[in-house]
Amino acid sequence: MARCFVSRQLPGSALDRLAEQHEVEVWAQELPPTYAELTEHVEDAEGLLSMLTDRVDAELIEAAPKLRAISNYAVGYDNIDLAAAAARRIPVGNTPGVLTDATADLAFALLMAAARKLTEADAAVREGGWQTWEPGSYLGADVYGATLGIIGFGRIGRALAERADGFSMRVLHTTRDSTHEDLDDLLEQSDFVSVHAPLTPETHHLIGAHALAKMKTSAILINTARGELVDQQALTRALEDGLIAGAALDVTVPEPLPADDPLLQAPNLIVTPHIGSATRTARERMAELAVDNLLAGLDGQPMPNQVPAPA
Ligand code: NAP
Repeated sequence: MARCFVSRQLPGSALDRLAEQHEVEVWAQELPPTYAELTEHVEDAEGLLSMLTDRVDAELIEAAPKLRAISNYAVGYDNIDLAAAAARRIPVGNTPGVLTDATADLAFALLMAAARKLTEADAAVREGGWQTWEPGSYLGADVYGATLGIIGFGRIGRALAERADGFSMRVLHTTRDSTHEDLDDLLEQSDFVSVHAPLTPETHHLIGAHALAKMKTSAILINTARGELVDQQALTRALEDGLIAGAALDVTVPEPLPADDPLLQAPNLIVTPHIGSATRTARERMAELAVDNLLAGLDGQPMPNQVPAPA
């Protein structure tokens, strides 16, 4: 029986399976543990079930001498120092696949909402700003038949393309091997640009001033990947100056954005609270997979979804 720390309560009953075999402590507070609290709670843990809000860096791993398995409750694992884990031969698991459709659905929902100014229109009705039906108000962009540029054509990017197919959209995409010219081409041609690459040193601020300047002034940017892929200062300026027509972000830096962050003052912006995978089914399936990964890791078996150790 190993001691496990789970840094948040999870939906569904997956944690019961973990508790049948191991001694489990679940962080039950409303806010995630701070870095200091996390360090304290992993000090004598053999298993860690972490969230994307937990920074599992070299120092934290060093502070946990008994740690034998890390299972991240997310498909992204940019919050984990993979090299530090590999140096200790600690396997790291993630939860791909089970959240693909939920996240692609949200990306398409953000695309539609931004195209048709849904949040602005809803707010106008509630706040009494809507006086009467008008031919020239709340004019949005056509989605049907438009061009969608998908940056990062993995599970979620491809799932978004399937949805776009139902709207007869022309889909362009880039991959990790695409050149700067390929990306510029996608940005210049797309009416909507949706970001689905992982956060890596190469993708940090992939959408900065240069990329935003390449986009059409009528284009809309959607980001459901990681906030760091977009240079938010450059995005704020692009929205203020009308360089692009709008943006819809499920992810930001930091999360949440402080109420006085200049980005929140920019026009034509929708921000949601990192809810890409937030359907009951997806979150429960993520919990099952995260528990399967941790059980296997503690057992000395390959995890069902084990992140490859860095080369
Ligand atoms: P995935 O299947 O690994 O797809 C990511 C794709 O991006 C891969 O095909 C990858 O290629 C490609 N890529 C890597 N670097 C690139 C670059 N510089 N330019 C263009 N493409 C690049 O991952 P996924 O399951 O689709 O998830 C994608 C990301 O979405 C995750 O990493 C996570 O950060 C984010 N996410 C967010 C939420 C949310 O709640 N908002 C939910 C789920 C996922 P290679 O395979 O060759 O590296």
